[in-house]
Amino acid sequence: MILRAAWVLPISGPPIRDGAVKVIGDRITEVGTLDQVTPDEETIADVGRVILTPGLVNPHTHLELTCYAGRLEPAPFWSWIWQLVKLRAAPGQVQREQEGVREGAWQSLRAGVTCVGDISRRNLHWHVLKPIPIRKVCFVELLTLADDPPRNPAELETEAACVQEDPLLTVGLTPHAPYTVPLRQIQATIALATKRQRPWCTHWAETREECEFLRGHTDALDSFLRSLLAASGIRSPRMAPFAYLAKCVGGAPPGALAHCNYLEPGDAERLAAAGHVVMYCPRSHRFFGHEPHPYRTLLQAGVTVALGTDSAASNENLSLLEELRYLRRETPEPPPDQTLLRMVTLDAARALGLQQHIGSLEVGKQADLAAFPCPRDTADPAALLVETAPLPSGVWVAGRRLL
Ligand SMILES: [Zn+2]
Repeated sequence: MILRAAWVLPISGPPIRDGAVKVIGDRITEVGTLDQVTPDEETIADVGRVILTPGLVNPHTHLELTCYAGRLEPAPFWSWIWQLVKLRAAPGQVQREQEGVREGAWQSLRAGVTCVGDISRRNLHWHVLKPIPIRKVCFVELLTLADDPPRNPAELETEAACVQEDPLLTVGLTPHAPYTVPLRQIQATIALATKRQRPWCTHWAETREECEFLRGHTDALDSFLRSLLAASGIRSPRMAPFAYLAKCVGGAPPGALAHCNYLEPGDAERLAAAGHVVMYCPRSHRFFGHEPHPYRTLLQAGVTVALGTDSAASNENLSLLEELRYLRRETPEPPPDQTLLRMVTLDAARALGLQQHIGSLEVGKQADLAAFPCPRDTADPAALLVETAPLPSGVWVAGRRLL
Protein backbone atom coordinates (compact mmCIF):
# COMPACT_ATOMS: atom_id res chain seq x y z
CA MET A 1 0.00 0.00 0.00
CA ILE A 2 1.27 3.46 -0.89
CA LEU A 3 -0.16 6.40 1.03
CA ARG A 4 0.11 9.62 -0.90
CA ALA A 5 0.03 12.96 0.94
CA ALA A 6 0.20 16.68 0.21
CA TRP A 7 2.77 16.74 3.00
CA VAL A 8 4.60 13.97 4.85
CA LEU A 9 6.05 14.94 8.25
CA PRO A 10 8.55 12.20 9.09
CA ILE A 11 9.63 14.02 12.35
CA SER A 12 13.08 12.43 11.97
CA GLY A 13 13.67 14.66 8.91
CA PRO A 14 12.27 17.76 7.19
CA PRO A 15 8.69 17.89 5.82
CA ILE A 16 8.22 16.39 2.33
CA ARG A 17 5.86 18.12 -0.10
CA ASP A 18 3.91 15.75 -2.40
CA GLY A 19 5.19 12.86 -0.32
CA ALA A 20 4.37 9.20 0.01
CA VAL A 21 4.82 6.42 2.51
CA LYS A 22 4.92 2.80 1.39
CA VAL A 23 3.70 0.19 3.83
CA ILE A 24 4.11 -3.57 3.53
CA GLY A 25 2.37 -5.56 6.23
CA ASP A 26 2.90 -3.77 9.53
CA ARG A 27 6.03 -1.87 8.46
CA ILE A 28 7.11 1.27 6.64
CA THR A 29 9.29 0.27 3.68
CA GLU A 30 9.78 3.61 1.90
CA VAL A 31 9.37 7.31 2.67
CA GLY A 32 9.96 10.10 0.15
CA THR A 33 8.36 12.18 -2.56
CA LEU A 34 5.77 10.38 -4.63
CA ASP A 35 8.30 10.19 -7.51
CA GLN A 36 10.93 8.57 -5.29
CA VAL A 37 8.72 5.82 -3.90
CA THR A 38 8.93 2.70 -6.05
CA PRO A 39 5.69 2.13 -7.91
CA ASP A 40 4.61 -1.48 -8.06
CA GLU A 41 1.42 -3.41 -8.27
CA GLU A 42 0.55 -2.03 -4.84
CA THR A 43 -2.36 0.36 -5.06
CA ILE A 44 -2.02 4.01 -4.18
CA ALA A 45 -4.55 4.33 -1.39
CA ASP A 46 -6.85 7.28 -1.82
CA VAL A 47 -6.72 9.11 1.48
CA GLY A 48 -7.63 12.54 0.13
CA ARG A 49 -5.50 15.66 0.47
CA VAL A 50 -3.74 15.09 3.79
CA ILE A 51 -0.77 15.73 6.03
CA LEU A 52 0.69 12.37 7.03
CA THR A 53 2.44 12.10 10.41
CA PRO A 54 3.53 9.31 12.70
CA GLY A 55 0.68 8.28 15.00
CA LEU A 56 0.81 10.49 18.08
CA VAL A 57 2.11 8.97 21.31
CA ASN A 58 0.65 9.85 24.73
CA PRO A 59 3.26 8.67 27.24
CA HIS A 60 1.39 9.57 30.43
CA THR A 61 -2.29 8.96 31.05
CA HIS A 62 -4.68 7.16 33.37
CA LEU A 63 -7.43 6.04 31.00
CA GLU A 64 -9.52 4.49 33.79
CA LEU A 65 -10.25 8.01 35.07
CA THR A 66 -11.92 8.97 31.77
CA CYS A 67 -15.22 8.10 33.45
CA TYR A 68 -14.72 11.10 35.79
CA ALA A 69 -14.17 13.60 32.97
CA GLY A 70 -15.87 16.90 33.79
CA ARG A 71 -16.75 15.78 37.32
CA LEU A 72 -14.05 17.77 39.13
CA GLU A 73 -13.39 21.50 38.95
CA PRO A 74 -9.87 22.88 38.45
CA ALA A 75 -8.25 23.00 41.90
CA PRO A 76 -4.91 22.56 43.61
CA PHE A 77 -3.71 18.95 43.38
CA TRP A 78 -4.37 18.03 47.02
CA SER A 79 -8.01 19.06 47.14
CA TRP A 80 -8.54 17.44 43.72
CA ILE A 81 -7.03 14.10 44.75
CA TRP A 82 -9.25 13.68 47.84
CA GLN A 83 -12.34 14.49 45.80
CA LEU A 84 -11.20 11.96 43.22
CA VAL A 85 -10.68 9.31 45.91
CA LYS A 86 -14.28 9.90 47.03
CA LEU A 87 -15.64 9.63 43.48
CA ARG A 88 -13.71 6.42 42.84
CA ALA A 89 -15.03 4.81 46.02
CA ALA A 90 -18.66 4.98 44.84
CA PRO A 91 -20.26 1.55 44.14
CA GLY A 92 -19.54 -0.03 40.76
CA GLN A 93 -15.95 1.25 40.53
CA VAL A 94 -14.43 -1.64 38.55
CA GLN A 95 -17.05 -1.69 35.81
CA ARG A 96 -17.19 2.11 35.62
CA GLU A 97 -13.44 2.52 35.35
CA GLN A 98 -13.02 -0.31 32.85
CA GLU A 99 -15.61 1.46 30.71
CA GLY A 100 -13.45 4.57 31.19
CA VAL A 101 -10.41 2.69 29.85
CA ARG A 102 -12.38 1.67 26.74
CA GLU A 103 -13.76 5.17 26.17
CA GLY A 104 -10.33 6.74 26.74
CA ALA A 105 -8.64 4.42 24.24
CA TRP A 106 -11.14 5.18 21.48
CA GLN A 107 -11.13 8.89 22.31
CA SER A 108 -7.34 8.77 21.89
CA LEU A 109 -7.52 7.02 18.51
CA ARG A 110 -10.09 9.52 17.28
CA ALA A 111 -7.59 12.28 18.16
CA GLY A 112 -4.77 10.63 16.18
CA VAL A 113 -3.10 9.02 19.21
CA THR A 114 -1.98 5.52 18.22
CA CYS A 115 0.01 4.65 21.35
CA VAL A 116 -0.59 5.27 25.06
CA GLY A 117 1.48 4.78 28.18
CA ASP A 118 -1.35 3.96 30.57
CA ILE A 119 -1.30 3.56 34.34
CA SER A 120 -3.99 1.59 36.15
CA ARG A 121 -4.23 1.56 39.92
CA ARG A 122 -5.31 -2.07 40.18
CA ASN A 123 -4.03 -3.42 36.88
CA LEU A 124 -7.57 -3.43 35.53
CA HIS A 125 -6.71 -1.92 32.17
CA TRP A 126 -4.71 -4.42 30.18
CA HIS A 127 -7.43 -6.95 29.40
CA VAL A 128 -9.77 -4.10 28.40
CA LEU A 129 -7.08 -2.58 26.17
CA LYS A 130 -5.85 -5.89 24.73
CA PRO A 131 -8.62 -6.31 22.12
CA ILE A 132 -8.56 -2.59 21.21
CA PRO A 133 -6.15 -2.09 18.28
CA ILE A 134 -4.27 0.82 19.87
CA ARG A 135 -0.60 0.33 20.81
CA LYS A 136 -0.15 0.44 24.57
CA VAL A 137 2.34 0.17 27.36
CA CYS A 138 0.29 -0.99 30.36
CA PHE A 139 2.06 0.21 33.48
CA VAL A 140 1.38 -1.84 36.60
CA GLU A 141 1.47 0.50 39.57
CA LEU A 142 2.86 -0.11 43.04
CA LEU A 143 1.19 2.08 45.70
CA THR A 144 2.32 1.07 49.17
CA LEU A 145 -0.42 2.82 51.14
CA ALA A 146 -3.28 1.45 49.01
CA ASP A 147 -6.06 -0.84 50.18
CA ASP A 148 -5.72 -3.07 47.11
CA PRO A 149 -2.72 -4.75 45.48
CA PRO A 150 -0.12 -4.14 44.18
CA ARG A 151 1.10 -2.70 47.51
CA ASN A 152 4.54 -4.32 47.64
CA PRO A 153 7.10 -5.69 45.17
CA ALA A 154 5.84 -9.28 45.48
CA GLU A 155 2.28 -8.26 44.55
CA LEU A 156 3.66 -6.09 41.78
CA GLU A 157 5.59 -8.98 40.26
CA THR A 158 2.52 -11.24 40.46
CA GLU A 159 0.32 -8.64 38.75
CA ALA A 160 2.90 -7.90 36.06
CA ALA A 161 3.21 -11.62 35.31
CA CYS A 162 -0.56 -11.74 34.61
CA VAL A 163 -0.35 -9.22 31.78
CA GLN A 164 -0.50 -11.03 28.43
CA GLU A 165 1.74 -9.10 26.08
CA ASP A 166 1.34 -9.11 22.30
CA PRO A 167 2.85 -7.09 19.44
CA LEU A 168 0.71 -4.08 20.45
CA LEU A 169 0.81 -4.57 24.23
CA THR A 170 3.90 -4.14 26.40
CA VAL A 171 3.95 -4.29 30.18
CA GLY A 172 5.62 -1.49 32.14
CA LEU A 173 6.22 -0.90 35.84
CA THR A 174 5.68 2.15 38.00
CA PRO A 175 6.22 2.99 41.63
CA HIS A 176 3.53 5.65 42.15
CA ALA A 177 5.62 8.48 43.67
CA PRO A 178 8.47 9.12 46.11
CA TYR A 179 6.09 10.08 48.95
CA THR A 180 3.82 7.02 48.60
CA VAL A 181 6.40 4.27 48.01
CA PRO A 182 9.50 3.79 50.21
CA LEU A 183 13.05 3.64 48.85
CA ARG A 184 13.49 -0.13 48.84
CA GLN A 185 10.19 -0.66 47.01
CA ILE A 186 11.03 1.98 44.40
CA GLN A 187 14.37 0.25 43.90
CA ALA A 188 12.67 -3.16 43.66
CA THR A 189 10.22 -1.86 41.03
CA ILE A 190 13.01 -0.43 38.89
CA ALA A 191 15.01 -3.64 39.37
CA LEU A 192 12.05 -5.71 38.15
CA ALA A 193 11.71 -3.47 35.07
CA THR A 194 15.43 -3.85 34.42
CA LYS A 195 15.30 -7.63 34.84
CA ARG A 196 12.36 -7.92 32.46
CA GLN A 197 13.77 -5.27 30.07
CA ARG A 198 10.59 -3.26 30.24
CA PRO A 199 10.05 0.49 30.68
CA TRP A 200 9.48 2.13 34.04
CA CYS A 201 7.99 5.49 34.93
CA THR A 202 6.96 7.35 38.04
CA HIS A 203 5.51 10.66 39.22
CA TRP A 204 8.22 12.98 40.57
CA ALA A 205 8.31 16.51 42.04
CA GLU A 206 4.67 17.07 41.14
CA THR A 207 3.85 19.46 44.02
CA ARG A 208 5.81 21.83 46.24
CA GLU A 209 4.47 20.01 49.29
CA GLU A 210 5.82 16.67 48.04
CA CYS A 211 9.26 18.24 47.55
CA GLU A 212 9.13 19.75 51.05
CA PHE A 213 8.16 16.37 52.50
CA LEU A 214 11.12 14.70 50.78
CA ARG A 215 13.46 17.32 52.21
CA GLY A 216 12.25 16.50 55.72
CA HIS A 217 9.50 19.11 56.24
CA THR A 218 6.87 16.44 56.81
CA ASP A 219 4.26 18.99 57.97
CA ALA A 220 3.98 20.10 54.36
CA LEU A 221 1.59 17.18 53.72
CA ASP A 222 -1.87 17.20 55.25
CA SER A 223 -2.41 15.28 58.46
CA PHE A 224 -4.60 12.54 56.95
CA LEU A 225 -2.00 11.70 54.31
CA ARG A 226 0.71 11.83 56.97
CA SER A 227 -1.17 9.28 59.04
CA LEU A 228 -1.53 7.00 56.00
CA LEU A 229 2.19 7.28 55.28
CA ALA A 230 3.09 6.57 58.90
CA ALA A 231 0.82 3.50 58.93
CA SER A 232 2.59 2.21 55.79
CA GLY A 233 6.04 2.81 57.26
CA ILE A 234 6.89 5.59 54.80
CA ARG A 235 9.24 8.26 56.12
CA SER A 236 10.82 11.27 54.54
CA PRO A 237 14.21 10.43 53.04
CA ARG A 238 15.37 13.94 54.11
CA MET A 239 16.98 14.55 50.75
CA ALA A 240 16.53 16.97 47.87
CA PRO A 241 14.03 15.39 45.41
CA PHE A 242 16.45 14.78 42.55
CA ALA A 243 19.31 13.63 44.75
CA TYR A 244 16.82 11.13 46.13
CA LEU A 245 15.86 10.09 42.60
CA ALA A 246 19.51 9.29 41.86
CA LYS A 247 19.63 7.14 45.00
CA CYS A 248 16.44 5.30 43.97
CA VAL A 249 17.66 4.60 40.43
CA GLY A 250 21.26 3.72 41.26
CA GLY A 251 22.92 2.20 38.20
CA ALA A 252 19.64 1.07 36.57
CA PRO A 253 18.62 2.29 33.09
CA PRO A 254 16.84 5.68 32.99
CA GLY A 255 13.07 5.97 33.11
CA ALA A 256 10.27 8.42 32.42
CA LEU A 257 9.30 10.98 35.04
CA ALA A 258 5.83 12.51 35.03
CA HIS A 259 5.67 16.21 35.85
CA CYS A 260 8.97 17.36 37.48
CA ASN A 261 7.13 20.63 38.08
CA TYR A 262 9.48 21.95 40.75
CA LEU A 263 13.22 22.02 40.01
CA GLU A 264 16.17 23.52 41.84
CA PRO A 265 19.24 24.90 40.11
CA GLY A 266 21.30 22.01 38.76
CA ASP A 267 18.40 19.54 38.60
CA ALA A 268 17.93 19.93 34.82
CA GLU A 269 21.61 19.14 34.22
CA ARG A 270 21.37 16.17 36.59
CA LEU A 271 18.35 14.82 34.67
CA ALA A 272 20.12 15.32 31.34
CA ALA A 273 23.18 13.43 32.55
CA ALA A 274 21.04 10.58 33.90
CA GLY A 275 19.12 10.30 30.61
CA HIS A 276 15.61 10.34 32.07
CA VAL A 277 12.70 11.55 29.94
CA VAL A 278 10.44 14.16 31.56
CA MET A 279 6.73 13.97 30.75
CA TYR A 280 5.01 17.35 31.00
CA CYS A 281 1.21 17.47 30.83
CA PRO A 282 0.45 21.10 29.88
CA ARG A 283 -3.31 21.43 30.28
CA SER A 284 -3.42 19.25 33.39
CA HIS A 285 -0.61 21.44 34.77
CA ARG A 286 -2.81 24.48 34.22
CA PHE A 287 -5.83 22.66 35.76
CA PHE A 288 -3.91 22.27 39.04
CA GLY A 289 -2.72 25.89 39.00
CA HIS A 290 0.96 25.00 39.27
CA GLU A 291 3.71 27.56 38.77
CA PRO A 292 4.95 27.73 35.14
CA HIS A 293 6.58 24.45 34.10
CA PRO A 294 10.38 24.52 33.67
CA TYR A 295 10.30 22.55 30.39
CA ARG A 296 12.29 25.17 28.48
CA THR A 297 15.06 24.94 31.10
CA LEU A 298 14.98 21.16 30.71
CA LEU A 299 15.15 21.36 26.90
CA GLN A 300 18.05 23.80 27.11
CA ALA A 301 19.90 21.43 29.43
CA GLY A 302 19.45 18.62 26.89
CA VAL A 303 16.69 16.67 28.64
CA THR A 304 14.20 14.86 26.40
CA VAL A 305 10.78 16.31 27.24
CA ALA A 306 7.67 14.49 26.05
CA LEU A 307 4.13 15.82 26.36
CA GLY A 308 1.24 13.86 27.81
CA THR A 309 -2.35 14.51 28.78
CA ASP A 310 -2.49 12.95 32.27
CA SER A 311 -6.07 11.78 32.90
CA ALA A 312 -9.32 13.19 31.56
CA ALA A 313 -10.27 13.91 35.20
CA SER A 314 -7.82 16.85 35.18
CA ASN A 315 -8.02 17.78 31.50
CA GLU A 316 -10.60 18.70 28.88
CA ASN A 317 -9.88 15.64 26.74
CA LEU A 318 -7.07 13.31 25.63
CA SER A 319 -5.99 15.20 22.48
CA LEU A 320 -2.24 15.78 22.17
CA LEU A 321 -2.66 18.31 19.36
CA GLU A 322 -4.81 20.36 21.72
CA GLU A 323 -1.92 20.28 24.21
CA LEU A 324 0.29 21.74 21.47
CA ARG A 325 -2.27 24.37 20.52
CA TYR A 326 -2.53 25.39 24.18
CA LEU A 327 1.26 25.72 24.50
CA ARG A 328 1.52 27.71 21.30
CA ARG A 329 -1.37 30.07 21.98
CA GLU A 330 -1.39 30.53 25.72
CA THR A 331 2.16 30.22 27.02
CA PRO A 332 5.12 32.55 26.48
CA GLU A 333 7.90 31.62 24.06
CA PRO A 334 6.76 28.17 22.97
CA PRO A 335 9.33 26.03 21.12
CA PRO A 336 9.16 25.82 17.29
CA ASP A 337 6.29 23.75 15.88
CA GLN A 338 8.64 20.98 14.68
CA THR A 339 9.93 20.62 18.24
CA LEU A 340 6.41 20.55 19.65
CA LEU A 341 5.43 17.79 17.22
CA ARG A 342 8.51 15.75 18.14
CA MET A 343 7.46 16.00 21.81
CA VAL A 344 4.23 14.10 21.04
CA THR A 345 5.81 11.55 18.69
CA LEU A 346 9.48 10.53 18.77
CA ASP A 347 10.29 11.93 22.23
CA ALA A 348 7.10 10.44 23.65
CA ALA A 349 8.04 7.08 22.11
CA ARG A 350 11.40 7.37 23.91
CA ALA A 351 9.55 7.81 27.23
CA LEU A 352 8.02 4.38 26.60
CA GLY A 353 11.21 2.73 25.36
CA LEU A 354 9.64 2.40 21.88
CA GLN A 355 11.74 4.91 19.92
CA GLN A 356 13.23 2.17 17.73
CA HIS A 357 9.74 1.05 16.67
CA ILE A 358 7.43 4.08 16.48
CA GLY A 359 7.37 7.89 16.73
CA SER A 360 8.74 8.77 13.27
CA LEU A 361 8.18 7.79 9.65
CA GLU A 362 11.33 5.83 8.90
CA VAL A 363 12.02 2.68 6.92
CA GLY A 364 11.70 -0.38 9.11
CA LYS A 365 9.51 1.25 11.73
CA GLN A 366 5.97 0.17 12.53
CA ALA A 367 3.32 1.69 10.25
CA ASP A 368 1.56 3.73 12.94
CA LEU A 369 0.27 6.79 11.10
CA ALA A 370 -2.20 9.63 11.28
CA ALA A 371 -3.59 11.62 8.33
CA PHE A 372 -4.98 15.12 8.83
CA PRO A 373 -6.99 17.10 6.24
CA CYS A 374 -4.75 19.59 4.41
CA PRO A 375 -6.20 22.81 2.93
CA ARG A 376 -4.92 23.65 -0.60
CA ASP A 377 -2.68 26.60 0.22
CA THR A 378 -0.86 25.00 3.16
CA ALA A 379 2.80 26.06 3.12
CA ASP A 380 3.64 25.14 6.72
CA PRO A 381 1.97 21.84 7.67
CA ALA A 382 3.50 21.71 11.17
CA ALA A 383 2.10 25.16 11.97
CA LEU A 384 -1.30 24.11 10.66
CA LEU A 385 -1.42 21.05 12.96
CA VAL A 386 -0.26 22.97 16.02
CA GLU A 387 -2.45 26.03 15.41
CA THR A 388 -5.69 24.29 14.55
CA ALA A 389 -5.44 20.87 16.24
CA PRO A 390 -7.52 19.16 13.53
CA LEU A 391 -9.11 15.74 13.91
CA PRO A 392 -7.51 13.02 11.78
CA SER A 393 -9.27 11.67 8.72
CA GLY A 394 -7.33 8.41 8.93
CA VAL A 395 -5.42 6.45 11.57
CA TRP A 396 -3.32 3.32 11.09
CA VAL A 397 -1.74 1.06 13.72
CA ALA A 398 0.75 -1.57 12.55
CA GLY A 399 -0.40 -1.00 8.96
CA ARG A 400 -4.07 -1.53 9.70
CA ARG A 401 -6.49 1.31 9.06
CA LEU A 402 -8.76 1.97 12.04
CA LEU A 403 -10.57 5.20 11.17
ZN1 LIG B 1 -0.23 10.74 36.42
